[in-house]
Amino acid sequence: MNKKRTSHFSKACKVIPGGVNSPVRAWKSVGGQPVFVSHANGSKIYDVSGKEYIDYVLSWGPMILGHAHSKVSKAICNKAMKGTSFGAPTEAETQMAELISEAIPSMELIRLTSSGTEATMTAIRLARGYTGRSLIAKFDGCYHGHNDSLLIKAGSGVATFGIPGSPGIPAGLAGLTLSLPYNDVDALQKAIETHGSRFAAIIVEPVAGNMGVVPPQKGFLNKLRKLTAKYGIILIFDEVITGFRFTFGGYQNLIGIKPDLTCLGKIIGGGMPVGAVGGAKKIMERLAPMGDIYQAGTLSGNPLAMSAGLCTLNILKTKKISFSFSDKKTNQLCTEMECLFAAKGIAVCINRVQSMFTVFFQPGPVYDLKSAQKSDTAMFARFFHGMLKNGIWLAPSQFEAGFLSFAHTQKDIDKTIDACSKTLKNL
Ligand SMILES: *Cc1c(COP(=O)(O)O)cnc(C)c1O
Repeated sequence: MNKKRTSHFSKACKVIPGGVNSPVRAWKSVGGQPVFVSHANGSKIYDVSGKEYIDYVLSWGPMILGHAHSKVSKAICNKAMKGTSFGAPTEAETQMAELISEAIPSMELIRLTSSGTEATMTAIRLARGYTGRSLIAKFDGCYHGHNDSLLIKAGSGVATFGIPGSPGIPAGLAGLTLSLPYNDVDALQKAIETHGSRFAAIIVEPVAGNMGVVPPQKGFLNKLRKLTAKYGIILIFDEVITGFRFTFGGYQNLIGIKPDLTCLGKIIGGGMPVGAVGGAKKIMERLAPMGDIYQAGTLSGNPLAMSAGLCTLNILKTKKISFSFSDKKTNQLCTEMECLFAAKGIAVCINRVQSMFTVFFQPGPVYDLKSAQKSDTAMFARFFHGMLKNGIWLAPSQFEAGFLSFAHTQKDIDKTIDACSKTLKNL
């Protein structure tokens, strides 16, 4: 173990719970101590000892253009010289809302927040206020931020640690949230037939990314849209990961399904803290100050976040080809890794949706949380450490998505395949 790294971590642990400001950054499920980062550029991330890694975490999704993109960094710097927060409206916020609404037409009105968690929290409150109902439903393994109503059988750090929700969430509140198996149309139908008109909202990751990548099966989201419409239930697409990941727009653009509300975050902030909730005018108009449902934020629509986000989205708008390049590169990476594992006689199931992927250490198929949890997490941990040693930065948990950016090159892919081959020799 690198001595320097150890001292950075032990220092952090004295003043920060677990040494990290978000549990997924700790290495609880793979063992060892987290690497401290000094800087990053393009597809590369560097630790405090100067070691270079090819980054497949990308700050858990946001850095689709690669790290420290020159235009994005310049936009932030220029803005910073002119003041960093005013607590009054700016034109950039309108431009951001216009751009999002243009890309995702179901988002007719948009409220900007400082995180994805705030966006989903607001969406749930809006749905409850609008419908006058209390129950909500979500899906096992889907993560929607850490707010009380939604931290029930959530994925991400929670699936990793096996915590069902969390202490501190009142049972009365958790009891209003039903969690259903992902991709299970029968369970969904039954739940809606039982409680239908008592549900305010159903929230879903249209492509699940927080139990590892789990794509929606054919018909699942269609059925969800049909049933929610029939019972007057607000359908919320949590596109915090999937928004602008596959196209200039959301996953909803690709499948032609229109949710009532959509939550965004990650990519739309270009690496700055951001979230957004938007949807049908008649629902969004209920938000204060127009309506009676309260929501606010001192730093919402922050000028620096807007400059990074606007710059990123304006670049993405012109990069149709880059989306398909990163799609192809991810396909190549996954296919070649599959061959290496097969040659070694190790059963893996690689789930992939365009530039998102997860290598599950099991034969698969992986289509929900239960099937994801059949993975050999001890083998994943060995793989993670082997890849890291060979210069590949993966998420420190089996139940996370890997991401490619537009900055990942053919050379990066070749190096990653080579690192995988070396890692498998000693697995
Ligand atoms: C990351 C994430 C969130 C929470 O966003 P934060 O900015 O971390 O609060 C919500 N939903 C999904 C699907 C996410 O991946």
